[in-house]
Amino acid sequence: MQTIVNCPDCGRMFTKYYSDKCPDCVQLEEAQFNIIREYLRQRGGKAKLEEIVEDTGVKEKYVMRMVRNRRLSSEFAIEYKCESCPEMITEGRHCKKCNDKLAATLGGVAEKLVAQPEKTGPRVHDKLRG
Ligand SMILES: [Zn+2]
Ligand SMILES: [Zn+2]
Repeated sequence: MQTIVNCPDCGRMFTKYYSDKCPDCVQLEEAQFNIIREYLRQRGGKAKLEEIVEDTGVKEKYVMRMVRNRRLSSEFAIEYKCESCPEMITEGRHCKKCNDKLAATLGGVAEKLVAQPEKTGPRVHDKLRG
C-alpha cells in the first residue's frame, strides 16, 4: 500500500516508503551529514554549533536535528546554547543548572515539556557571538 504524504522539509508530495521525507531531502540530509562529519573530523571531533553553520553552510535546524537524533552527538561533541540561558551544552535542551531549576519548579510538568515535539514555531534567530 502506498501513502502520499507531504515532505516536512520541502513540502512536496511524495510516496512514502521508508522515510518520512522525500528522496531529495533524504539525499540532501545525507550529503549534509557527510559534510559536517568531515568538518568535525578536521576539527578533532569538537565544534560549536554556530561555527558548523557558518563554515559548512548547513542550516542550524538541520544540524540540531542531527544532534538531537544522535547521529552526530554519539560521535562528536557539538556545543550549542542551552534553551534557557547562554550556557554551552553538548546534549539535551538545557544545561544541568536549568534542568535542575525546571525539575524543582515545575516538577512533573518538566517531563511533559521535554516530551513535546520539536516544532515550537518560528524562533528568533539571535546570533550572539562571544
Ligand atoms: Zn523534501
Ligand atoms: Zn541553562
